Amino acid sequence: MSQLPILPISSIGSLPKPPDLFQAEMAPLEQQDRAWMRQAQETAVADWLATQESLGIDVLVDGEQYRRSITTYFLEGWGCADIDPDAVWVLDNMYGQRAVIKRPATESRTLLLDWYQFAAARAQSELKVTVTGPYTLRDWVFDLHYPDRAAAVLAMAEYVREEVQALVAAGVRYLQIDEPAFVTRYDQPAELDVAIEGMRRICAGLPEHVTIFTHMCYGAFHEVYPKMLELPAQVFCLELAHVAPEMLDILRQHPFPADRGMGYGVVDAQDPRVESVEEIEARIRLALEYFAPEQLWINPDCGLQVVPRESAVAKLENLVAATHRVRQSLA
Ligand SMILES: [Zn+2]
Repeated sequence: MSQLPILPISSIGSLPKPPDLFQAEMAPLEQQDRAWMRQAQETAVADWLATQESLGIDVLVDGEQYRRSITTYFLEGWGCADIDPDAVWVLDNMYGQRAVIKRPATESRTLLLDWYQFAAARAQSELKVTVTGPYTLRDWVFDLHYPDRAAAVLAMAEYVREEVQALVAAGVRYLQIDEPAFVTRYDQPAELDVAIEGMRRICAGLPEHVTIFTHMCYGAFHEVYPKMLELPAQVFCLELAHVAPEMLDILRQHPFPADRGMGYGVVDAQDPRVESVEEIEARIRLALEYFAPEQLWINPDCGLQVVPRESAVAKLENLVAATHRVRQSLA
């Protein structure tokens, strides 16, 4: 098993999709040409794996090329939700579609296993698999089935747990449970407790060689810190590229625990402008004022799916170059 370098480089999850695939997946599932879609998704995943390897990224993601959105992919795939025909604009996708939970899962909870095996057969490097957390799977959709929010979250936690068990049995060592909705409920402690309980159920009993990451969006981590440390993740991947440095001052009041890791966001995932190597290097050096080098992972703020492909590649290229500069100065 390969040893990761200091300041290992990874991505958050999503990467830009080919335009024809992006267009095609907007159609209702029953109208999609499934054979064409699968072929296009496989080509896109293989392409991104090769691109990340050529850029020198240490832990690859599959770019989520086969997910319409981080919620609908799982909820439709497990058979527990339908798409609301009345389109709404929602944070987690740009298609104006929202899932409606209508029943317990009817399909197998091993959606990601197949894609992990596809990627593992094509990548020389380590892989990180991303799965949407149970709290976000409930919070970003409608629910017409469960009696209350907690019941829905814990049901989703069981389905995610089954996905994770299959992945770990297949050899996954880096696993990210995305909970972007966590940050948005900072003023509702009971909701945060439900999210924490959901993730605990997923992670209970996982072998020690599995590193659990979690990711939160919107840069508002200070609202949920240090509460977020109750989530059973070893590495917290946060959007810190566009955060004002003053926000990090909260870490002076409540120092980040030495036994947890920080996936430090160093490029903006919304803005197509490509940050220079110097700019990214300065962000990594700022991170080193708050975290030991051994605690840090270097990554973009969020999934890069909304910026054009050329911009995403150029951002990753500069991120790698900046990390190499800092590594050399630490050696
Ligand atoms: Zn994000």
